[in-house]
Amino acid sequence: MSLTDLARPGAAPRATLDRALTNPTSLALARERIGLITEAARRAASYVAGARHRPIAPDPEAVAALDAFRRPLQDGPRDAREVLVELDTLGSPATVAQAQGRFFGFVNGGVDNAAGAAALLAGQWDQNPALPVMSPVASTLDEVAAGWVLDLLSLPPTATATFTPGATLANLTGILAGRDALLTRAGWSVNADGLFGAPALRVITGEEVHVSALKALRLAGLGVDRIERVPTDATGAIDAARFPTDTDHLTLVVLQAGNVNTGASDPFEAIIPGVRERGGWVHIDGAFGLWAAASPLLRHQVAGAALADSWGTDAHKWLNVPYDSGIAIVRERADLERTTAMSAAYVASGDARPLMSLGLQMSQRARGIETWAMLASNGRSGVADLIDRTCARARLFASLLCDAGVEVLAPVALNQVMVAFGSAPGGRGDDAVTAAVIEAAQREGTMWAGGTVWKGRPAMRISVSDQATTEDDVRASVAALLECWEAVRA
Ligand SMILES: *Cc1c(COP(=O)(O)O)cnc(C)c1O
Repeated sequence: MSLTDLARPGAAPRATLDRALTNPTSLALARERIGLITEAARRAASYVAGARHRPIAPDPEAVAALDAFRRPLQDGPRDAREVLVELDTLGSPATVAQAQGRFFGFVNGGVDNAAGAAALLAGQWDQNPALPVMSPVASTLDEVAAGWVLDLLSLPPTATATFTPGATLANLTGILAGRDALLTRAGWSVNADGLFGAPALRVITGEEVHVSALKALRLAGLGVDRIERVPTDATGAIDAARFPTDTDHLTLVVLQAGNVNTGASDPFEAIIPGVRERGGWVHIDGAFGLWAAASPLLRHQVAGAALADSWGTDAHKWLNVPYDSGIAIVRERADLERTTAMSAAYVASGDARPLMSLGLQMSQRARGIETWAMLASNGRSGVADLIDRTCARARLFASLLCDAGVEVLAPVALNQVMVAFGSAPGGRGDDAVTAAVIEAAQREGTMWAGGTVWKGRPAMRISVSDQATTEDDVRASVAALLECWEAVRA
């Protein structure tokens, strides 16, 4: 199809439209763009083909070469192709090869094939799904993907799910909705009067609350020093027996599905009904762990999660959707809209899902498209298999390392493994040896895992969150770790 075919017969006075369509500047821009997209896709493909064969962390020389980017902005324009070549030449070698099956840091997911391809195409669509009129296709796919997520996570089908830049902002959305709902029921309008003079909320979390949930509480004006933190058991889950039973209608509780170190989830069934009966609000931070609900084998670990008022989770972690993509879910749409509604001047009354009124952003990336593609490609059983498979790889990690005399610090509930390396096989993990093995392994490059602190002890955390990880990847990674350990001991 040539560009002139784009004209619809009779859509505009033919001669003026013809002139616009054949305008030399427009034609040159369009031709350049099409050429660049093809070139970018070719380079992306060649990057993917090569990334499996390189160290996971970039070479120090490649990182040092990034200094070439740090120059003053030049005065005039530069050829776009030159810019693309520079980006690929300097940038690609300095990436962390994180979607190749042997990156186990930070619960970062890999890239599902359908989702990655969708990102490439939809990036060129450049859609803003803030309102359906801005992008019928992005709005439709967002709605479909959100519905599928509720279905997979066994959350109430009447809840409202919207995409966010990550779980931190998904948690913030749920916490803000909870804060405003509690205060509204107590006769206080945050929208009108802010928090000045508002009734004080009681905020309760577990001792093992994720740092980003604390940040969200802080951003919501609730203050970290006022939070009550309930002790957790040996797995990192809240000890239900120690959860306060005197919560009231001004209590906001933030629970966790999937402790970032152990994968353990709080006892939802024991805690949530009482808090809600007494008029409180329960939000669940389920950045990755909530996805256990998508596996028939593992969903008992998050039993009762559906009882909460709001949830925050990620698509870019365990679901292997490209960055960035989180999901905020609120049981009652009115509770979400009270906090996020935009002025009626923008939102047409007929809009079923005006996203700018259902989240923290106005303009936004059309994030739902990639989750739609992932789910459309994998289906229910494919998602369950992804969850089960990565958990099985995590258990394999733990058993191989344990067999080699490495200390495994907590039971492997889901896809997270925590280990500490001793000064001799079979001994208790030693802080200095563990730190040295982490550093050596990152430098060696077969795999990548980072450090964490568990109950006051430094540990290596191995998070199996990439759909690409095979048993052979685990065996190769364990072999590399054991060699590094031996070298550190020598
Ligand atoms: C990763 C994580 C978060 C934060 O998610 P982002 O998508 O990085 O904002 C919150 N809670 C838990 C338990 C996590 O693992």
